[in-house]
Amino acid sequence: MGSIMDAQNTMRGAVLLGPEQIEIREVPISQPGPGEILLSVEAATTCGTDVKVYRRGGHPRMLQVPTLFGHEMAGRVAAVGEGVTAFSVGDAVVVANSAPCGECDPCRAGRENLCEDLQYINGAYAEFLLVPERFVRCNTYLIPEGLSFERAALTEPLGCVIHGISNCDLSLHGKPGEAEIMVFGAGPIGLLFVAALAMEGHRVLLTDPSPERLAVGKELGAAEAFESGRAGDQAEMVRARTQNDKGAAVAIDASGVPQVWLDAIACVRPGGTVNLFGGCAPGTTIPLDTHLLHYSELTIKGTYHHRPETIKGALDLLTDPGFKADLLLSGEQPIEGVEAALRSMMSMESLKVVIKKELGSG
Ligand SMILES: [Zn+2]
Ligand SMILES: [Zn+2]
Repeated sequence: MGSIMDAQNTMRGAVLLGPEQIEIREVPISQPGPGEILLSVEAATTCGTDVKVYRRGGHPRMLQVPTLFGHEMAGRVAAVGEGVTAFSVGDAVVVANSAPCGECDPCRAGRENLCEDLQYINGAYAEFLLVPERFVRCNTYLIPEGLSFERAALTEPLGCVIHGISNCDLSLHGKPGEAEIMVFGAGPIGLLFVAALAMEGHRVLLTDPSPERLAVGKELGAAEAFESGRAGDQAEMVRARTQNDKGAAVAIDASGVPQVWLDAIACVRPGGTVNLFGGCAPGTTIPLDTHLLHYSELTIKGTYHHRPETIKGALDLLTDPGFKADLLLSGEQPIEGVEAALRSMMSMESLKVVIKKELGSG
């Protein structure tokens, strides 16, 4: 086993203990077994999912407290286990937060986000993270020269967004620029949709209650950005903003608010695609206008997570300096500042915060 570590056996990590309860603890560092690597986390970015996990004190499927958490990360290989040939100590890498089995029906159909045995990894708000064999084998990537750890940490959310864009059936809606795409919600995910779609030449409209976030959307290439009205009541307003008042070709919900799902469905033109990306709480239902769905031949679909293919696409896009992902990074905090970072997201002061083991490093 190779290693650059000088006999360090423990590390600092943010341990989630329960709802809104985090403690910084000194915890053991696991040494990599066969096929595994030990990642020195150089940058981890906070995410809306972490805020949910922090508020609820865990996640029914992914996280049982007490636990380390954080899932958007980039770092350096600190040690490699037996049999690892694709990576060496010192390599800068991105590790996606899930690894599909590659063998089940969805995996074989190229829909690995729906893998029947999808494994998740958490624990990016710590100095080191042990990366299991399956993750090393199928969802770990070298960071291209010149790409910072901070930007590279955005690979995971952008991978979700690129998967979301592939779910928008854009080829059905004319050439880039012809079809109007309406994005509801200017949080980090909505903004990544705007940036990625605008880079492809699409005309993107954005709505959100926050003028500050709309301004970021403009900088990222939104053709129009306007303050939202009352959720559930916005379809007419959106329609009036589209060319010929016909409605958007594609509507994307990046808010996870059920009333906004209704707005997204109601604001598309005949033949439109509605991409419901923002997850609502379990048990949420919405009424559906069956007449509209049928006669306007709408396509309504949900989108979840990412695939190895879209993770690679995200890493590529992040290397393009024209892709202004840095606008999403509102600041930096050391591991001790994870709680403050999540609170600043809850109060809408920040979009995403970069967590680093030492500020000014990486
Ligand atoms: Zn995330
Ligand atoms: Zn599978």
